[in-house]
Amino acid sequence: LKLQYIDMIDMAVQSIEQTKSRASDEHKIRLQLISSDKLGVQADKERIKQLLFILLDNALKYGRPAPQGEITLKLDKQQGQVMISVIDNGEGIASEDLEHIFEEFYRGRHRSSANTIAPIIGTGLGLTIASAIVRAHNGAITACSEPGNTEFKVLLPCAD
Ligand code: ATP
Repeated sequence: LKLQYIDMIDMAVQSIEQTKSRASDEHKIRLQLISSDKLGVQADKERIKQLLFILLDNALKYGRPAPQGEITLKLDKQQGQVMISVIDNGEGIASEDLEHIFEEFYRGRHRSSANTIAPIIGTGLGLTIASAIVRAHNGAITACSEPGNTEFKVLLPCAD
């Protein structure tokens, strides 16, 4: 890892812009800042970019399509940790899939890909890579989901 100071707000703004450029115009994609503190982490910039890409890409792929589709990237500070969460309002993750999604090559079953903006193809590796990146930074990643609300939450040690 090439560790350096990263301002997570700057990085989140960039990731949101990149996601918007891949989504439709009516898609609501927003950044929500809960904490007014500085949100810096000591981390590998390329890896954190990939982490956000994987989570936002899944939110686009499995989330609701526009115009009802909404994706929120939320940043907060909790007990000395930066919390990054990615929330979508798609069909959600079935409870029998939820315990396996971080396993390599595991892919969930989806009712229909006609309901999502991007075709549902993939390798089942995205979340395995995301969790390896988080672990390498001594952080934690969790998912919780119900129909219409899926949230991936990442905690990373705060550098400020
Ligand atoms: P790839 O990584 O190549 O894009 P993938 O999306 O299938 O493939 P993961 O990112 O590891 O792989 O996700 C594993 C599974 O978790 C997916 O197949 C999907 O069923 C489920 N999943 C992940 N994110 C979401 C989400 N936001 N909403 C609903 N299901 C999700």
